[in-house]
Amino acid sequence: MGLFSRHKPKIKVQTTKKDGYSGWVKCTHCHEMIHASELEKNIHCCPKCDSHYRLSGTQRIQLFADGNTFEEMFTEYKPLDPLGFVDTETYVKRLEIAKKASGRDEAVLVGVCELAGRKVALGALDFSFMAGSMGSVVGERLTLLIEHALAENLPLIIVSASGGARMQESALSLMQMAKTSAALAKLHEKGLPYISVLTNPTTGGVTASFATLGDIIIAEPDALIAFAGPRVVEQSMRQKLPPGAQRSEFLLERGMIDCIVNRHQLKEKVSQMLLFLCDNHRAVQEPQDLKKTYGDTVGHLPRKLQELLALVEEKQLQTLYERD
Ligand SMILES: [Zn+2]
Repeated sequence: MGLFSRHKPKIKVQTTKKDGYSGWVKCTHCHEMIHASELEKNIHCCPKCDSHYRLSGTQRIQLFADGNTFEEMFTEYKPLDPLGFVDTETYVKRLEIAKKASGRDEAVLVGVCELAGRKVALGALDFSFMAGSMGSVVGERLTLLIEHALAENLPLIIVSASGGARMQESALSLMQMAKTSAALAKLHEKGLPYISVLTNPTTGGVTASFATLGDIIIAEPDALIAFAGPRVVEQSMRQKLPPGAQRSEFLLERGMIDCIVNRHQLKEKVSQMLLFLCDNHRAVQEPQDLKKTYGDTVGHLPRKLQELLALVEEKQLQTLYERD
């Protein structure tokens, strides 16, 4: 009887959120609670399990560029709707929504900056803009960046995070695969280094073109790197994929990528690689300095680099080439 005659509920219902609880997020990987500020301080890697969360294009640039040295280029190229494409929404409307959501006008940022004091050409795809998909403008800006690197003799770094070619531009976006690849071939002929950094996820036409054409291909830990995603592959093959398939670690084992680098070491490792590729610096270093610089990286380096390092360690090689 007491149950029905009770007027005041005994359990106090909290109607407003206490301040102390806001700003906490649950790690999707280890399910630990992390404070957003802690996550940000740790460059969006979980402090408990080191799971790497996605970064925006701007954050990617900040990760590599020294201070405020990044100068964005080719922003005058803006997306259009050449095919008048409509699915459940018009392409024009989708572009508008993406612009509002991401604060960017396209899915890529390209430009020049200094990386550990060296001038480089740097590009980063932004997944928050239409899943980092490659339309005509993304392809064009990247190609212009590669051509700028060619003209100015700059090493090139492109950080990818993409769902692939942009379906709203159909064959026009597929052509960007050929265009970017052709420009990279010219860079290769001139002997300028291109380092490709693959982040979670890098898929479709981006994986099938510039992202996997790097002289050195680096991936972040546990990144999904694929042409078609695991669900599509499983549906078409009617077979379950092995555990961890299409992830960085699986691809490293099978030689699809050169190394896996934790986000915290990414800038340092890239600058070391550029030092090696651009300056003939490694050859004149003493073996003990070599170990200090490379340390744990050895073993995860491309074979050619490993062989060269071994030669230098044995003091068989004093210089790699002569400079004019
Ligand atoms: Zn975690």
